[in-house]
Amino acid sequence: MKRTLITGAAGFLGSHLCDRFIAEGHEVIAMDNLITGDLKNIEHLFPLEQFTFYNHDVTNFVHVPGNLDYILHFASPASPIDYLKIPIQTLKVGALGTHNLLGLAKEKNARFMIASTSEIYGDPLVHPQTEEYYGNVNTIGPRGVYDEAKRFQESITMAYHRFHGLDTRIVRIFNTYGPRMRLNDGRVIPAFMGQALRGEDLTVFGDGSQTRSFCYVDDEIEGIYRLLMSDYTLPVNIGNPNEITIKDFAEEIIKLTGTDQKIIYKPLPKDDPMQRQPDITKAKEILGWEPKVGREEGMRKTFEFFKGLSKDELEKTEHRDFSNHNKK
Ligand code: UDP
Repeated sequence: MKRTLITGAAGFLGSHLCDRFIAEGHEVIAMDNLITGDLKNIEHLFPLEQFTFYNHDVTNFVHVPGNLDYILHFASPASPIDYLKIPIQTLKVGALGTHNLLGLAKEKNARFMIASTSEIYGDPLVHPQTEEYYGNVNTIGPRGVYDEAKRFQESITMAYHRFHGLDTRIVRIFNTYGPRMRLNDGRVIPAFMGQALRGEDLTVFGDGSQTRSFCYVDDEIEGIYRLLMSDYTLPVNIGNPNEITIKDFAEEIIKLTGTDQKIIYKPLPKDDPMQRQPDITKAKEILGWEPKVGREEGMRKTFEFFKGLSKDELEKTEHRDFSNHNKK
C-alpha cells in the first residue's frame, strides 16, 4: 500500500485530495494546523484504518514515522482576506514549511508535489498565461506575501530537484471551486453564494470587467493526480480556460440562485489581477487532461453545498474591507 502525506488536508483542495488518494487505495497521512482548514471536511475519513490525522504546523520540523511514497504540500492560506489577516503565516508556510517538507521528502525518498498557483503570474501582461510566462508580481503589495511565498516555493523545489535529484512536481492551480469552499474566505464564489442565500445584494469589486476562469474541483483533482503520476517535473497549469468577467458571473449567479438581488459595486482591491485564463496546452499534451465539468453544472453542485449549510453558518460571514489596503 502506498503511503501519502497531504498537508493542508482539512482545507478545500486538501480534503478532496484525501478522498481521492483513499479511493486510489493509499494510506493517507493528513496534516493541518486548522488555521484556515476545518475538520468537518475530513471527519468522514476518521473511522478508516488507512487514514491518520496530525494537527501540526509544518513551519515547525515535521516528523512522520515510517516510509512515505508521496508528499503533497497543499497547506497555505489561499484567499486575499486570509493574506491580510495572517500575512506572516502565509509567507512561513510557503517558505519554511516547504523547506521542512522537502527535507522530509529527501529523507524518505518520496515524490514531492507543491501546490503552486496562477498568482505567481501576478497581474499578467501575457494572456492566456503559459507556463513560460515569468509574471508581473508586486512584491510589496498585499498579495505579495502569497505570491512571493509561492514563487520561492517553486524555486526551492527546483533547487532540491536539481541539486539533490529529488523527484518533484509543480502544479499551478487556477481559480477552483466546489463543495467545501469556506463560506467566509472572502473569495468571489462563496461571497456571491452567501449573499444570495442571505438575501443580500451581490458585491462586485471595481466595474466587474476583470476576468477569471473557474475550474470545478473534481476536474482540478484529476489534473493534479495525473501530474503527480506523470514523470514531468516542470510546472503545469491546471485550470479551466473558460473565462468570464466578474460582472457577467454575478449575473449568472443571480439567475442560478433564482433570487432578485441586485449588483452593488465596491472598490477594486489593490493589485487585483485584471484578467486570468490558463493556457492548458501542456496539461492536454502531457497528461491528456482537460476539464469536463461546465460552469453551469459545477455552480449548481456548489450551490447545493452552500444551501446545505445551517443558518448559523450562513450568518458567520466576513466582509472584505479594503479601505486601508487601497491606501498603500
Ligand atoms: N470579487 C468581487 N466581489 C467579491 C469578492 C471578489 O467582485 O465579493 C472579485 C475580486 O475582486 C476578483 C475576483 O472577484 O477580481 C476573484 O476574486 P477571488 O478573491 O475569488 O480570487 P482571486 O482574486 O484570487 O482570483
